[in-house]
Order: sequence, then C-alpha cells, then structure tokens
Amino acid sequence: MEIIRCGACNRKLAEAEYIRLSIKCPRCGAINQVKAASREPERHGASVRKGTLHATSPEAATQPAL
Ligand SMILES: [Zn+2]
Repeated sequence: MEIIRCGACNRKLAEAEYIRLSIKCPRCGAINQVKAASREPERHGASVRKGTLHATSPEAATQPAL
C-alpha cells in the first residue's frame, strides 16, 4: 500500500495500490493525478529458459503421428 497525498496541501488522501489514480482533495480542491512509481521488477536477462523450453514441449508429445 502506498499513501497518496495532496500535492497542494499535503493532506493524506488515500492508501492504495494503484496504477493510475485521479483524486480530488476534499480540503483544498486540487485534483491529484498519480501514477505508480516504477514497478518493473527484473528487467535484465532474467528469462534464460526461452531457448530450452522447446525440447520438452508437452504439446509435441501428445500429437498423434500421422
Ligand atoms: Zn489539498
């Protein structure tokens, strides 16, 4: 959960898990538009299995031979 605060008066507006959110501050009336901060885990070279998956594909095994 993240705490969302008004950008104008710093009042706490909500606690949420969000991607994008538009919320109006009840105190000062400012509309706050917030986006989730960089939520992109493991981006570099984590997927090494791609190449090896083919060899043991279950689909190929269940196909009847023609
Ligand atoms: Zn405010």
